[in-house]
Amino acid sequence: MNIQNYINGQYVNPINNEWIDNYNPSNGEVYCQIPNSSKEDVEQAYKSAQSAFSKWSQTTLEERSRIMLRVSELIEENLDRLAEAESKDNGKPLWLAKAVDIPRASSNFRFFANAITQFASESHESVGQNAINYTLRQPIGVVGCISPWNLPLYLFSWKIAPAIAAGNCVVAKPSEVTPMTAYLLGDICTEAGLPKGVLNIVHGLGTSTGQAIVEHPNIKAISFTGGTATGTHIARTAAPMFKKLSLELGGKNPNIIFADCDYEDMLKTTVRSSFANQGQICLCGSRIFVEASIYEQFKTDFTNAVSKQKVGHPLAEETKIGALVSKPHLEKVLNYVEIAKEEGGKVLHGGNQLTIEGHENGYYMEPTIIEVPSDECRVNQEEIFGPVVTIMPFNSEEEVLEMANKVKYGLSATLWTNDLKRTMRMSNKLQAGIVWVNTWLMRDLRTPFGGVKDSGVGREGGFEALRFFTEPKNVCIKY
Ligand code: NAD
Repeated sequence: MNIQNYINGQYVNPINNEWIDNYNPSNGEVYCQIPNSSKEDVEQAYKSAQSAFSKWSQTTLEERSRIMLRVSELIEENLDRLAEAESKDNGKPLWLAKAVDIPRASSNFRFFANAITQFASESHESVGQNAINYTLRQPIGVVGCISPWNLPLYLFSWKIAPAIAAGNCVVAKPSEVTPMTAYLLGDICTEAGLPKGVLNIVHGLGTSTGQAIVEHPNIKAISFTGGTATGTHIARTAAPMFKKLSLELGGKNPNIIFADCDYEDMLKTTVRSSFANQGQICLCGSRIFVEASIYEQFKTDFTNAVSKQKVGHPLAEETKIGALVSKPHLEKVLNYVEIAKEEGGKVLHGGNQLTIEGHENGYYMEPTIIEVPSDECRVNQEEIFGPVVTIMPFNSEEEVLEMANKVKYGLSATLWTNDLKRTMRMSNKLQAGIVWVNTWLMRDLRTPFGGVKDSGVGREGGFEALRFFTEPKNVCIKY
């Protein structure tokens, strides 16, 4: 089977007729091919988007909203089919795709379909000068959306939905590692009545197809989620062209546990925040810091709880942890375990590749806990993005705050404590775009989402996303 590009409302082959193999991580087999799209395909997608823009940007908010709500409904109606596709493409457990990925993709369309009807702009009366200013928020034109493989349809739609709600037309590229649900979205948009050309989906490699989107002189804004190194490259390419940029990048998030927390709740959530989606969520708490007085108890209980997490085939009902997304990624993650050992880290649990009977060539790995001798070692500083967490004790609030902030990333932080004053002090000082207190990955789509430092530039979510995808224009009228 071949995946095709979705341009001007039609599924089409890449112009060069070149294809890339797409692997099923659960068994290591190639199960379909995807277009290796070139600059010419991106140009075609751009032209289609450009020709749809004048009509779409003038479509009433009510009508845009109605179509997007229909997309949202159709995603829900296709829940099983989309979840199966996501699980097969990515290696994540089917139950997870059904409970999180696909429902969230539907919510993304529903949320921005509603948000656009409430999006207002400012006006300022210039008192004493007989003038009034108001701000027009106009769509940018054709925008580019580029997404990663860890939450494929979830993050793809998180960009596309606000972009089209705001009246833009889109050239979008999902990760070449997980293209399937983006491909299926084309049909859903057609069925929902999204006019041709409003959304164009081109598949291919980051360095060619993705690069062509970023370099395109008339694609005026780029919304990107992916690795920090890719983000740096994109920023370098886009800056001289003065493109608007939203970059959601890597993380190395601290999970800070004080002795006064609700222990059972913390323990359960920490297993999830460490290993959900095989630890391949940018928000996973990959550095666990535990107050010294409960450190030994936590070590025992956490290791016990993690040892019960069943690694298995993504479709098996009892599977908690599925396959990693690709062979190179599995190798990268395993290599970090070796680095940890060389640095004096102690593997408390896991650390090895796993073979699952009947699926011997799949990319499975044990959930891994590494006790580290110092917060400065590489496994504590570099993003691993797999089922590996580090743990170490701390003695004071000041000490843990310093360690938590001493990384180049600043995406999210989790804090477990019942001390209100400490919560306030720490939340103010943690260098992160998001702080969760006594919870993890609880999302309200109205809130700003994004990171500081090397975790990115800009915020997604709520009106922040609609602001990104519009250009403000001040109009001053003297009367
Ligand atoms: P990646 O940077 O390799 O790829 C992301 C996307 O960018 C893919 O579609 C890829 O094809 C494309 N790409 C690659 N090179 C490009 C280029 N030169 N020009 C344009 N596009 C290019 O990242 P990945 O491995 O797919 O995803 C994992 C990374 O994503 C991790 O670092 C993770 O932390 C990050 N992530 C961040 C968030 C967030 O919200 N901050 C969310 C999820 C994942």
